[in-house]
Amino acid sequence: MQLLQLLSPDNTYWNFIKPYDVLTSYGFFYGYNHKMNTNRIHIYRSIEQPIQGEIVYWMSRDQRIDSNWAFTYAQQLSIEHKLPLRIVFTLSPVFLDATLRQYSFMIEGLKQVEKRATSLNIPFTLLLGEVVPTFVQYLQSHQIGAVITDFDPLKIKKIWKEGILSQTNVPLIEVDAHNIVPCKWVSQKVEFGAYTIRPKIKKNLDEYFESPPQPMQNVFTTSEVVNTTNWDDVYASLKVSNSVLPSKVYLPGREAGLKVLHTFISQKVESYGTLRNDPTKGMISNLSPYLHFGQLSAIECAVQAKQLAEEFPESVASFLEELIVRRELSDNFCLYNAHYDSFEGFPDWAKKSLNEHRNDKRDFIYSLEEFDNSATHDALWNAAQNEMVKTGKMHGYMRMYWAKKILEWTKTPEEAHTIAIYLNDRYQIDGRDPNGYVGVAWSIGGVHDRAWFERPVYGKIRYMNYNGCASKFDVKQYIRLQSDDLSLF
Ligand SMILES: Cc1cc2nc3c(=O)[nH]c(=O)nc-3n(C[C@H](O)[C@H](O)[C@H](O)COP(=O)(O)OP(=O)(O)OC[C@H]3O[C@@H](n4cnc5c(N)ncnc54)[C@H](O)[C@@H]3O)c2cc1C
Repeated sequence: MQLLQLLSPDNTYWNFIKPYDVLTSYGFFYGYNHKMNTNRIHIYRSIEQPIQGEIVYWMSRDQRIDSNWAFTYAQQLSIEHKLPLRIVFTLSPVFLDATLRQYSFMIEGLKQVEKRATSLNIPFTLLLGEVVPTFVQYLQSHQIGAVITDFDPLKIKKIWKEGILSQTNVPLIEVDAHNIVPCKWVSQKVEFGAYTIRPKIKKNLDEYFESPPQPMQNVFTTSEVVNTTNWDDVYASLKVSNSVLPSKVYLPGREAGLKVLHTFISQKVESYGTLRNDPTKGMISNLSPYLHFGQLSAIECAVQAKQLAEEFPESVASFLEELIVRRELSDNFCLYNAHYDSFEGFPDWAKKSLNEHRNDKRDFIYSLEEFDNSATHDALWNAAQNEMVKTGKMHGYMRMYWAKKILEWTKTPEEAHTIAIYLNDRYQIDGRDPNGYVGVAWSIGGVHDRAWFERPVYGKIRYMNYNGCASKFDVKQYIRLQSDDLSLF
């Protein structure tokens, strides 16, 4: 689209509230015939007027250009102020327990981001090295007017943002592009469970249930943009373990993610309500790798599912409960509980109960290596571990069983917690996600759950066993599928 068209009086471009007004007021930010609720915005350091320099979208958690409110906001600032726009991604050579499997999923996705940026005439810069010093140096050596970034509740991302704030004077604005109802706005405290956050989300869902507009051609550049990241150098910069290889089942990138979404919507969603807990049927969405890396947005998945709500009301309701309420509850927990990845973060009743059962006799005790090698006495547990190691994604129902058995078969709940997070983050493509920290803490530490009948080792933590699984699905079939290395999907 040409600039003239953009500026046509018939275009709602003229209706924009100026971003600097928006940043100091509640209301809507109008753009591209759409509106973005400004409650998505968190100001770390406000923008000085007039803006002096390039607008940088510091892409981090939401690794896409389409369906991304943070990008939308950055592009809006660029258009409003007629300033150049650039996307910058800072690639750390290590990240928590990620391996080549997760890095390659991300890098292959970033290649598609770069391609999309080129098609929109937007420069894309990939910075390699330790995030804070590398980005600080970049910001200090370029004329930057504002940095817009996306929201992430993990501690490491907070450290990065604080590092940028303390070492530069650059304005820094965060836009929640991950949650449908913005996390910092919907609640200002740790929620007890789905039952406390659900009404808050539901009450506001209509207001926020809107897709961001299509990105626009960037016109504020001096020349045609050709992005030429050297991807061999990118891979060479990594300092991660190569022992966990990329998944052959879940292919990386937005294009693959859109296909997975299409398959779910056209073939599986109707059975989601009844079969999602049966790991032999594969009737789950498999969207988590794409949502984790932000290659897809939750809103675009939700919009498509909602169109089938009349036809398959129960299935769509269950899916939206997981995709919105449960997923956004996880962000809430990690944002407001700094101990989201340790025993200390468990609720008091759970800590007390686990402490009381610390010295209970364990029937089996396994080391990290034995768990890692699927070498327990339980063929069902080993099958779940194999599914994760081989495909990069364990079925959601099996994740609960898998983590609870680690609690049962280790010396302490702390050790169980550490092992579960380590294996989860090492093998799952979607690991290192708020959902993962909460899933493990739910299974081992009663987070977002209630106290159950007391029993050895578990105390009042909810128990699961082999027979319970056998009553729900064909356990032998699941074990067979994993040992045959067959893909269900
Ligand atoms: C021990 C344990 C570890 C887990 N580790 C992770 C992890 O590392 N990364 C991760 O994304 N999820 C994790 N989960 C949550 C859940 O199991 C996965 O999100 C789900 O299995 C992903 O597969 P799917 O996309 O096919 O799910 P679907 O059932 O199709 O659900 C659709 C989407 O809803 C969300 N969702 C589904 N279940 C949950 C849940 N229980 N809590 C929060 N959001 C949910 C996810 O975004 C998911 O992609 C874990 C759960 C447990 C019990």
